[in-house]
Amino acid sequence: MNQEQLIGSVVEEVLKQLAPGADGTQTVMPGAPTAPLQQTADGLGLFGDVDAAVNQATVSQRQLATASLEVRDGICCLLKQMAKENAQDWGRIEFEETKIGRLDHKIAKLEMLSGVAGVEFLRSAAHSGDAGISLDEAAPWGVLGVITPVTHSIPTLTSNAINMLAAGNSMVVNPHPSGAKCAAMAAAEYNKAIKTEFNIDPLICVIDPPTLRSAEEIFRHAGIPLLVATGGPAVARAAMKQAKRAIVAGPGNPPVVVDETADFDNAARSIISGAGFDNNLLCIGEKEVFVVASVFDKMMDAMRRAGAVELGHQEIEKLAQEVFTFEQDHYAVKKEHVGADAHILGQLCGANVSVGVDIVFGETDESSPFVSEEQMMPFVPFVRVSNFEQAMDLAIKYEHGFGHTTIIHSNDLDHITRMGRACNTTLFVANGPSTACLGIGGEGYASYSIATPTGEGVTNPLTFTRFRRMSVSGALRIV
Ligand code: NAD
Repeated sequence: MNQEQLIGSVVEEVLKQLAPGADGTQTVMPGAPTAPLQQTADGLGLFGDVDAAVNQATVSQRQLATASLEVRDGICCLLKQMAKENAQDWGRIEFEETKIGRLDHKIAKLEMLSGVAGVEFLRSAAHSGDAGISLDEAAPWGVLGVITPVTHSIPTLTSNAINMLAAGNSMVVNPHPSGAKCAAMAAAEYNKAIKTEFNIDPLICVIDPPTLRSAEEIFRHAGIPLLVATGGPAVARAAMKQAKRAIVAGPGNPPVVVDETADFDNAARSIISGAGFDNNLLCIGEKEVFVVASVFDKMMDAMRRAGAVELGHQEIEKLAQEVFTFEQDHYAVKKEHVGADAHILGQLCGANVSVGVDIVFGETDESSPFVSEEQMMPFVPFVRVSNFEQAMDLAIKYEHGFGHTTIIHSNDLDHITRMGRACNTTLFVANGPSTACLGIGGEGYASYSIATPTGEGVTNPLTFTRFRRMSVSGALRIV
């Protein structure tokens, strides 16, 4: 079956599933069922209403909880393998649906899921002494309510699934409406494969079609003890004000500082690689650069040498008029330009930028909306500052307290240390692209959800577990 036929069959199945309860009268309470539901006997895991999804996820999670760790590991490996094998097709499908970013990087993002942490991250601790023994375990929460962004629809769904299933949970997912079809397609494929290989019913239950209302139902559902939201300021606020715990992977506006001691060619290559990745859709991507005045021209030369195309002052002004609106007292990015190619940005401002150029850049002052806004486009503003202290102050100012990501290019250990302390962000990269902190061009495991305002950081299976301790008083110590 080709991908178009697959989507067609998924839609047909969803319509079939929706038929009995489509009047919204379904009243099954969460946690009640103990057997697989009729409507998901095909294993697709797509639901028109939240109650039905939670019911199925509850049943499936019980099946997973009684399966072995080996099965959980097998599921994680299966998801990684499927993402890799389908990277070309699924990357294209996501690109065609969302119409943002770059096809080659949509594919790369699916391949990079191999670096996401699985069951190997689960740890138990033992305490042994005169009074007996205690064992600390990482237990599942149950059904997790998951909100995913349009910027990486299938990758976030998959990355979350690898972490959450490894930890023994199931999921009810409300994808971004603009990336919902591809998320539903991938989830249906994963669920079918898990059923075939491990005889477990849908663990990745997706609301199809997702709406803001279904997101709110997930937030408030009594059968969901933990929320995990990945997205911008509105969803971060909405998730954190709920009366249950939320793990929130919120927005960023990562600043870069370049001081007098930097390796300018390395800095240029790194900024182009990080900001150019998927046309700067990544929350960690370099969004604005503060360069010490004494080396500003050297840095701009290095950018040109590395293949970025410079825009002049008037072109930058024109581009800003095209891609931002100014409402009341703040700028807003026009959605239709998010994730556009650099040559399209060139067309918008009358600059000659060839197809295939990774990023455009240019000098602005700090008042430019390209500095203050998380623009998610491959234009990077460079601001001239008098010294390192001013660069650091402006980096902190324009990171907006998101606590997300900051980057420095410097060979001065004192500067690197001071900036790392002062910025206090979840991720801090020195002398590499922003992706270094997710294991690409650096060390560490990958994730598509960096929990920032709630502090869990680069999410992994332990993030989605509950601490439980078993104590045996006065016995079982064998030494
Ligand atoms: P978005 O905020 O528009 O949407 C994210 C998700 O939240 C979508 O599913 C959307 O439907 C939902 N949503 C939005 N407002 C909501 C509300 N009031 N109530 C309930 N649900 C709501 O963001 P996007 O354009 O999809 O993604 C880009 C944003 O996400 C950027 O700000 C980026 O920095 C951030 N992001 C962060 C991470 C991270 O790991 N920290 C990862 C990816 C993206």
